[in-house]
Amino acid sequence: MAGDDRLLRAVLDAALEAIVTIDARGTILTCNPAAERIFGYERDEMLGRNVSMLMGEPESEEHDGFVRRYLASRQPRVIGIGRDVLGRRKDGSVVPLHLGITEIRVDGEPIFVGLLRDTSQEREGARRVTELHDSLAERNRKLQSLLYVASHDLRTPLVNIQGFSQELRASCDTLRGALEGIALPAETRREVERVLSEEIPEALGYILGGTAKMDTLLGGILRLSRLGRRALSLQPLDMNRILDELLVTMEFQIQQQNARVDVGPLPSCVGDPVQVGQVFGNLLDNALKYSAPDRTPAIRVSGERRDDEAVYRVADNGVGIPARHQDRIFEVFHRLDQSGVPGEGLGLTIAQRIVDRHHGHVSVDSSPGEGSTFVVRLPAVAEKLRPTASPARLAPSVHEDPTR
Ligand code: ADP
Repeated sequence: MAGDDRLLRAVLDAALEAIVTIDARGTILTCNPAAERIFGYERDEMLGRNVSMLMGEPESEEHDGFVRRYLASRQPRVIGIGRDVLGRRKDGSVVPLHLGITEIRVDGEPIFVGLLRDTSQEREGARRVTELHDSLAERNRKLQSLLYVASHDLRTPLVNIQGFSQELRASCDTLRGALEGIALPAETRREVERVLSEEIPEALGYILGGTAKMDTLLGGILRLSRLGRRALSLQPLDMNRILDELLVTMEFQIQQQNARVDVGPLPSCVGDPVQVGQVFGNLLDNALKYSAPDRTPAIRVSGERRDDEAVYRVADNGVGIPARHQDRIFEVFHRLDQSGVPGEGLGLTIAQRIVDRHHGHVSVDSSPGEGSTFVVRLPAVAEKLRPTASPARLAPSVHEDPTR
């Protein structure tokens, strides 16, 4: 028995958590060295005193009431349930603690055993995570704002370049006309005509081609930045209905390519109808665009509910995507060489962005020469979305045109 006592004492002495026992009146009966370390009192300074000396506000005032109510009602509010409290050290400073209390009976008398763990470091860690998260969100907002302003404002000089280039082209025609009535040595005339009909128009062609490309890219960036600003209108979505509506709008394309599109029964999900429609519209559009030249396009849309998620698949028998490009196709402006297939390399970036905003996931599985399957996972229940369901909308910048 004596050995047992020694063992028990050694355990109490070595415990990292403070262990404090009190009687029904709140008088401290025992405490271990961890309690001395946490609270900064010597053992003898604690024994025999009321436990409220170790508590910060409001616990110290409420404590006696807790014990009395518990003994009268046996309804645990603290006892048997762990909770976070504030402790008070000898020097008056406050320490965050996790407190678990159990009740034991000794000679029929209730004794409460409190286990206290200093949670300062955990709290500090959580605080820093929140701080980091807030600062990242703020940077993200600034970056989006910058993208918006840059892409919006860069378009103005671009329009000027395009306009004046057209004007220069017209001026070349005017000059050519004027030259006809002027006597010039044959050699000079040939040279001037070559410059006016070939060199300048060729250079203008490059300028206009370049500005048109830049216009498309800026337009894409502008669309991307607007997407991040648009609030989500979340609601339960009947995905079969959304797909039916999409297929109606794509009827012409489908018929032209003689494509077969099968849509299986789809589980519902929770999302913004317009934006989720945009994701599937883009996947179907790609499935048609990147079809294999030697076979009729066959597209299958299927889905199932998995726990809190709805999982959808858009599978095609098109050209497929080499493994090294499979992650990169979601990057902004990344396109494979699809000689002649129109596109700006933004559809999948936008789709991924939308799915991310819904706390979902999109990925691709593809075999070159056989086809691709895009897998979209979206929340099937609203709870999954709640914590950040309505991302803070940016205050409109001075440059924002609300009509666009
Ligand atoms: P875009 O179609 O405008 O080029 P996307 O972002 O939608 O832009 O797609 C990026 C690239 O991914 C495409 O250029 C294409 O090379 C490839 N891709 C997308 N979907 C498919 C598909 N279903 N089959 C084969 N390649 C695809």
